[in-house]
Amino acid sequence: MLKTTALVCGAGGFIGSHLVRRLKLDGFWVRGIDLKMPDYGDSEADEFVVGDLRQQDFCARVIDRGFHEVYQLAADMGGAGYIFTGQHDADIIHNSATINLNVADLCRRRAVGRVFFSSSACVYPAVNQQNPDNPNCVESSAYPASPDSEYGWEKLISERLFQSYGRNYAMTCRIARYHNIFGPSGTWDGGREKVPAAICRKVAQAAHGGEIEIWGDGRQTRSFLYIDECIEGTLRLMRSGFAGPVNIGSEEMVSINQLVDMVCDIAGKRLHKRHVAGPTGVRGRASDNRLIAETLDWQPTQSLMAGLEKTYAWVESQLLRRAA
Ligand code: NAD
Repeated sequence: MLKTTALVCGAGGFIGSHLVRRLKLDGFWVRGIDLKMPDYGDSEADEFVVGDLRQQDFCARVIDRGFHEVYQLAADMGGAGYIFTGQHDADIIHNSATINLNVADLCRRRAVGRVFFSSSACVYPAVNQQNPDNPNCVESSAYPASPDSEYGWEKLISERLFQSYGRNYAMTCRIARYHNIFGPSGTWDGGREKVPAAICRKVAQAAHGGEIEIWGDGRQTRSFLYIDECIEGTLRLMRSGFAGPVNIGSEEMVSINQLVDMVCDIAGKRLHKRHVAGPTGVRGRASDNRLIAETLDWQPTQSLMAGLEKTYAWVESQLLRRAA
């Protein structure tokens, strides 16, 4: 019997490598594409092709058939230290937009079954996220558009690209706006890591009674979604009948100071917080899950604490491995 086929663009990255594992468990034949192999462990894809999706001829070579499902996760991306400094804006727009233009068009030419595009909560207007206690991230609030970063602007235009292909070429496209996904096998140092992994690393490296450096006053709020629930939501959205962008995130909002306290509790350490200048992004952001609950009859339920415990243990194991 012929297997159901999936292509994962960005399969060497954090979410992509977890997605490949899940698709394999679900019985798919999977081809993974990335500039690099996964950083932590081997890929479980049946085929893994290393190459650059900015190159049209490479895209044509790897998107060579009507895959049942194509997941477009490849992007030039990173945490606040990469996205919000302004130093990488031209690369972020150029690299990610070129990938999306290429992938969308090849998917049309090969008549793939369904295409998934990973957008971001960064599309939401900065002006709606100034109150740390009450940010507005309902899907319809993305317009009038005013994202706080070039990364968000690129995501917004690429959402429109995939939606246009859906309308004009009857391509079945699904779009998620991910909100701060975290978990094991995510980047945890080097400058592209996100808040949960960075805090786990800093806490693990600090001596009990020592100090931890936090960017900004730490009162900015966020919600964080554990990777397993991100993958579950992604697959449910992909196979649903809903074409508009949907938030995939958690509604459990915490301040960065609270996040630090949670990680300190897990580690059993007391640390003094030292607030320093640094890129922090908007003042408040959390997922609004009314649309996902309504359209998919599902939403994430796992507590932040449960995900942090697994992530802290993993980051600590990486530090121990490096030290050995
Ligand atoms: P990641 O950086 O770990 O994965 C992205 C992968 O894309 C990387 O492995 C990278 O090598 C690959 N890539 C970049 N340029 C490429 C190119 N030219 N050709 C081939 N591969 C290329 O990021 P992630 O956290 O796994 O995120 C996956 C997607 O989800 C991205 O599109 C990201 O913007 C989006 N997203 C993630 C989050 C999050 O919290 N992780 C939040 C919002 C949106």
